[in-house]
Amino acid sequence: MIYNEDFETLPREVLETLQLKRLKQTVQRVYHTVGFYRRLFDEAGVTPDDIKTLDDLKKFPFTTKQHLRDNYPFGMFAVPMSSVVRLHASSGTTGRSVVVGYTKRDIDTWSELVARCLVAAGLTKNDIIHNAYGYGLFTGGLGLHYGAERLGASVIPMSGGNTRRQITILQDFGPTAICCTPSYALNLAEEGKAMGVDMKALKLRVGIFGAEPWSDRMRQEIENVLEIKALNIFGLSEIMGPGVAMECLEGRNGMHIFEDHFLVETINPETGEVLPPGEPGELVFTTVTKEAFPLIRYRTRDLSRLFTEPCRCGRTLHRMDRITGRSDDMLIIRGVNVFPSQIEAVLLEVTGVEPHYHLIVERADNLDTLEIQVEVSEQIFADSDEIKVLQNIERRIVKDIKDYLGVTAKVKLVEPKTLERFEGKASRVQDKRKI
Ligand code: ADP
Ligand code: ZN
Repeated sequence: MIYNEDFETLPREVLETLQLKRLKQTVQRVYHTVGFYRRLFDEAGVTPDDIKTLDDLKKFPFTTKQHLRDNYPFGMFAVPMSSVVRLHASSGTTGRSVVVGYTKRDIDTWSELVARCLVAAGLTKNDIIHNAYGYGLFTGGLGLHYGAERLGASVIPMSGGNTRRQITILQDFGPTAICCTPSYALNLAEEGKAMGVDMKALKLRVGIFGAEPWSDRMRQEIENVLEIKALNIFGLSEIMGPGVAMECLEGRNGMHIFEDHFLVETINPETGEVLPPGEPGELVFTTVTKEAFPLIRYRTRDLSRLFTEPCRCGRTLHRMDRITGRSDDMLIIRGVNVFPSQIEAVLLEVTGVEPHYHLIVERADNLDTLEIQVEVSEQIFADSDEIKVLQNIERRIVKDIKDYLGVTAKVKLVEPKTLERFEGKASRVQDKRKI
């Protein structure tokens, strides 16, 4: 089944003509409405008129997350605030989060693209969708929600957490589809089993999983324990949110990218050189219909590769492989994006600890855990026979990390000068998860 036959099955030449027209408009618009882009293009010596073919996009400079941070909060918006109807943001201390905005038409587009994803997963308006992505500043919850409503399905706005209640709802409301992170799906299955619920007997038939990396091994496990079909959905707030790309039920081999709205390139993350389809590299997206927050050649830091072969579902949209890693040090902990530098920024605000820290990420019962080991200062160490002082520091760090970054961490204070020091590039993170 295809939600929008007209656009999802366009012959490639027709699609490319449409892309070129939209790209030209977008590049013109950002040049004239976003000061940042005018400066960026001027510095690079390019003008909107340089776009004559799709290939000319290569001549344009990249946009990076740092650019977005530098323009915090609204500096990248291409419309006045009066036209913005929604804001979303990634977590982070002030100035470190990325804020995105949507016009009414952007929300419309987003809803349609998520509806396309749901239909690609075989859903119709007769389905009941249990949406366990977090609602709030994250794009996951509301993104899926609007798409489900657009399709006309019945959506349960469950949001994350409260696992026992989720299981009760799964039993009582009988949803036929579930949306959440793949690790949370496994956690739900386990918790349900512990509650004595026969998770295979639920009405669930399909799961739409994303927001964190997962593997075919996890797919198989989820499909076994829940007796459903598990499909991959990809997106990022900067580009739109969930629904940038989605696997189809028929192919289940790579996610179709909605190329009538987003142009995609893969680049060598070291050199920035554009790679031919099929070669692994970093994904770079250009939005060609977004009004409030258009981006030109945005470096996602997500590693993947493109498939251009036709798919048996009939969509002509190219596909991307599952994400195989990152070209930066971002961690995804229970679906929340966290940079070690953000943790460091929180630690620097706490009196009594040194900026020497290690991060240990593990997965227990399908839930990610984060341990922060941090050295206390000589002063504190010498002065505090009192365990209370140390406990207070620990508590403060746990609270600040939760408040600023939205993740729960375990904090372990260690004696001064006991953590390994690094020459050159610090490798403070140990990611022990096996996904
Ligand atoms: P989301 O709500 O989708 O997590 P964010 O903007 O918070 O949106 O995070 C986007 C990042 O999440 C992506 O750049 C990518 O690293 C990761 N991500 C999203 N979907 C997937 C997926 N299906 N597989 C692997 N990683 C994903
Ligand atoms: Zn397909």
